[in-house]
Amino acid sequence: MICIIGAGVAGVMAAHFLSEEGAEVLLVDRSSVPASGGSGAAGAFISPKIGKGGPLQELTNEAFAFAQRFYRENFPKHFHGDGVLRIPKDSDDEKRFELYEAFNYRPYERWDAARAEAAGLRNVPGGFYFPEAGDADAPEICRVAAERLNFRQMEVERLEFAGNSWRIIGAGDLIEAEHVVLATGYESDLLDLRYMGIRGLWGSRGDYATSRQFPISLHKDFSLSSTRHGRIKLGATHVKSPQPCRICDGRPLATLEAKAAEITDTSDFRLVETFCGMRSTSRDHFPIVGPVIDVPRMLAETPAITRGAKAPLIHLEKLSVLNGLGGRGFVFAPLMARSLARYILHGEALDPRVHPDRLFWKWVRRMEN
Ligand SMILES: Cc1cc2nc3c(=O)[nH]c(=O)nc-3n(C[C@H](O)[C@H](O)[C@H](O)COP(=O)(O)OP(=O)(O)OC[C@H]3O[C@@H](n4cnc5c(N)ncnc54)[C@H](O)[C@@H]3O)c2cc1C
Repeated sequence: MICIIGAGVAGVMAAHFLSEEGAEVLLVDRSSVPASGGSGAAGAFISPKIGKGGPLQELTNEAFAFAQRFYRENFPKHFHGDGVLRIPKDSDDEKRFELYEAFNYRPYERWDAARAEAAGLRNVPGGFYFPEAGDADAPEICRVAAERLNFRQMEVERLEFAGNSWRIIGAGDLIEAEHVVLATGYESDLLDLRYMGIRGLWGSRGDYATSRQFPISLHKDFSLSSTRHGRIKLGATHVKSPQPCRICDGRPLATLEAKAAEITDTSDFRLVETFCGMRSTSRDHFPIVGPVIDVPRMLAETPAITRGAKAPLIHLEKLSVLNGLGGRGFVFAPLMARSLARYILHGEALDPRVHPDRLFWKWVRRMEN
């Protein structure tokens, strides 16, 4: 049995693909329902990355192409493919859009100010409209997926490797598993994962009742969804914080409301519900997918690695991680989870761009300083 710790979108998707490939899985979370962490707060916009090209944009857009098809096929009620309009953040960004266009995900349409105005926007110079993009109902996707899986509530306190299997230990509770997948989001204290540089960024989202009918979603330095059942979602994640933010009094939304009011008429928006959550980012902003290095053992057996000595990497047996999905957890999770499942079950090679090993040597050599 494979035990997945953490029932956010990373853990749920890992469990989904492992189970689809025929493995027996158990998904555990400290909460009685999936998506109680960052995944429940997400606006869950599924859109491509724009920019001047490069490996992160390429990877994101591969993941986007996979994700939008995956959600359409598997969660048709909870993916809303109304398209997303990417708007420049300011006049400098507007100039950069000229450079970005050559690297755009396809299909896309170039909108001008008149086209944006026709869609109910003001002070918007235009942008890139991605018709395959959209947004998902974040908690519902996690919960619907988890209903098809074995799920158990448990706060995991400790992990011990006992010869050939893992002991997953909570208060008065014990699970034995042949393989463990750690999908705990910004919380990474069950093992020594310091080399991954996982840190949290928190953000908030407000759901507003409105009579306005937005036909599309849009993204600037905040995101605003199309209207569905008389509601829109407004959100952003930008605040660096080592501390969890579980209760949000809604104040951060005031800034977002002001920004939204600059580009459209928000006068009848009425805040119905507020969500906040942490998302986790890796040191290099790429996802972290694959085996975990046994850091205490490596430091004990070859202390000179902190001074530049070479040594073969030692990995923890039968344990993998899926984390660092950043501000695009719902974009990355399906493709990353599928490759992790194929790695665990069939030994398929992992994409070096997301392999956790990439983060080790730089980190360990900095330990001396
Ligand atoms: C406000 C906001 C807006 C966002 N908007 C978007 C967006 O538009 N598009 C997009 O793609 N992404 C978005 N994101 C990012 C996305 O939500 C995250 O990347 C994603 O949720 C990360 O999922 P995760 O499963 O790694 O972490 P989480 O969802 O945080 O899940 C981790 C889970 O692990 C559990 N856990 C941790 N430790 C333990 C333990 N010891 N024992 C048991 N359980 C444990 C927690 O309870 C939690 O349920 C947004 C995030 C926020 C906060």
